[in-house]
Amino acid sequence: MARTPLLMGNWKMYKTVAEARAFAEALGQQSQKLDSRIEYAICAPYTCLHVLRVMLPAQVRLGAQNVFPEKEGAYTGEIAPGMLAEFGTKFVLAGHSERRMLFGESDQFINQKVKAIVANGMTPVLCVGENSSQKEDGVTQEVVTGQVLKGLDGLSADEVANAVVAYEPVWAIGSGKTATPEDAQEVARAIRAAVAETWSDQAAEGFRILYGGSVKPENVASFVREPDLDGALVGGASLDPTSFAAMAEAI
Ligand code: PGA
Repeated sequence: MARTPLLMGNWKMYKTVAEARAFAEALGQQSQKLDSRIEYAICAPYTCLHVLRVMLPAQVRLGAQNVFPEKEGAYTGEIAPGMLAEFGTKFVLAGHSERRMLFGESDQFINQKVKAIVANGMTPVLCVGENSSQKEDGVTQEVVTGQVLKGLDGLSADEVANAVVAYEPVWAIGSGKTATPEDAQEVARAIRAAVAETWSDQAAEGFRILYGGSVKPENVASFVREPDLDGALVGGASLDPTSFAAMAEAI
């Protein structure tokens, strides 16, 4: 089954509304570089979602970076999945390593988020990855497949087939260092095998795996070319519209 490639930006806590508008305008001027056979998305701060929804080229979908797994309630400062879905948000990140590390998110809490995202008709982008000491200890595959199985726990095979997993080695995020495409492919293959064993071959063939960690226009194609990698989750290099368009063109 052919999986649609996906290029996804993660803006983190960058960009005001004015800056997001300028990005959308500039990307719109380069929209001939966007390919209708590829899916694009930007996971933006909540305050930027409106201007992006109005101004981004139609091929670029809206993504959010986080969600709280309750319908509504006294959760000051949080945002509910239904609020994001109503807004036209297609993708929601869950378990980004910055949230795991800086905000203490556990696999169980991330799993609640994944289920809430799916229950509201959006696509979860479950982020997983080993840190540098786990890499040195040679336990990358165990760590990553464990995070995937815990993060997707309780979903049906069809729901898994529609999900996205982003493999982002923690040591590669924002560091300028990347995994080699071969190493990322090995991990992606292990993730797919674990999903096949737990759900089904069809689920494992269906879901998309992105590589993330210091992806830029010069290296994005080398990852997307690997058989088990279907795209990229890009932080720093997604902030500049010319670099986003260059990555779109490269894959
Ligand atoms: P980076 O971030 O591309 O700046 O390394 C990736 C991410 O955190 O998703």
